[in-house]
Amino acid sequence: MRGVKTRAAVLHDVGEKWEIETIDLDPPKAGEVLVKYAAAGLCHSDEHLATGDAAVPNAVADAKGWPRQFPIIGGHEGSGVVVEVGDGVTTLKAGDHVSTTFAPSCGRCHYCQSARTYLCDNTAFLFQPGQITDGTSRHWLNGQELAFYSKLGCFAEHSVVAEQSLVKVPDYINLEAIALISCGVLTGWGSAVKRAGIEVGDTVAVMGCGGLGMNAIQGARLAGARHIVAIDPVDWKREKAYEFGATHDAPSLRDALPLVREITWGRGAERLICTPGVMKGDYIKEALDLIGKGGVCVIAGMGASLDRTATLSVQHLAAWSKELRGCLYGAMNPRADIPRIIGLYESGQIKLDELITRRYSLDDINQGYEDLRNDRNVRGVLVFD
Ligand SMILES: [Zn+2]
Ligand SMILES: [Zn+2]
Repeated sequence: MRGVKTRAAVLHDVGEKWEIETIDLDPPKAGEVLVKYAAAGLCHSDEHLATGDAAVPNAVADAKGWPRQFPIIGGHEGSGVVVEVGDGVTTLKAGDHVSTTFAPSCGRCHYCQSARTYLCDNTAFLFQPGQITDGTSRHWLNGQELAFYSKLGCFAEHSVVAEQSLVKVPDYINLEAIALISCGVLTGWGSAVKRAGIEVGDTVAVMGCGGLGMNAIQGARLAGARHIVAIDPVDWKREKAYEFGATHDAPSLRDALPLVREITWGRGAERLICTPGVMKGDYIKEALDLIGKGGVCVIAGMGASLDRTATLSVQHLAAWSKELRGCLYGAMNPRADIPRIIGLYESGQIKLDELITRRYSLDDINQGYEDLRNDRNVRGVLVFD
């Protein structure tokens, strides 16, 4: 089969809007798969590309002699249907429904071999052009190589991605739900259940009630938390959090402090999961204040790459045995955990449809991100025909 033309949302530099471009896709080579995307979540991580929190502007890259990150196709939270597979692909065939995973699993690196596939070495170079398989490109814009975010590029009607980056899912589960699971649900749920290690009866606080936070709340409920305090400055999001299992709410970490002290007889929370749109170093001190002795604070929200300063009381760590834990992808292993979450959705134990606030066509993607910036969505979703 020859390559296809398809439409994609491309970002050309930091600070610009998404442009809908017609791009050329080469056919899949060995170990690769041509996917027709069905849905893609508007995750905050793609917004971090546009704001420069997680990307280097072209002018800065040029001045430093670094490879450019732009132009790049956005999107790393997707689902779709396999159109065609390249040589050697054994786990997928045309017609299969798939979830994307921004952490591939090569199965051979140190991290895959120690059951932490979310840290697979193939997760490197997410912003550079080229396939995981052989480093060459299948995505082209007017003859120029295109990067595709997380080696997925879900803001496109079609993409060519590595078999490693796809997980087969049952074809009777709706593909919007699958798209949400592939990043936000796994990350939020896992940050609470796996990384924070919630125990039955814990008091848990979740800071930031967006796509990650709502799933941290659902995870905390399923893990048996006694109290779940939803912290967010936006009134309607705090209210919505009760649908997912929150038992209390507060507009900020500072406001949550007297509340948490009261419901824990002065001890402080056992776990705090931080999932704000942009995690700032300034939040760390108040976060550590909210947890009690032996408490765990998990940082799952991305920060700006140049924010290198955090204020904290070192005494809280050494004298009170508090823990600060980073968290990528909820410490979840997508190939095992995407089916696990699908199972909980099927049995009605977690809510996914209720996470979707608005749906958009590819052409309306900039509206979708404007709504994200203005706190109008828990999750916006791009839906393809
Ligand atoms: Zn994401
Ligand atoms: Zn690996």
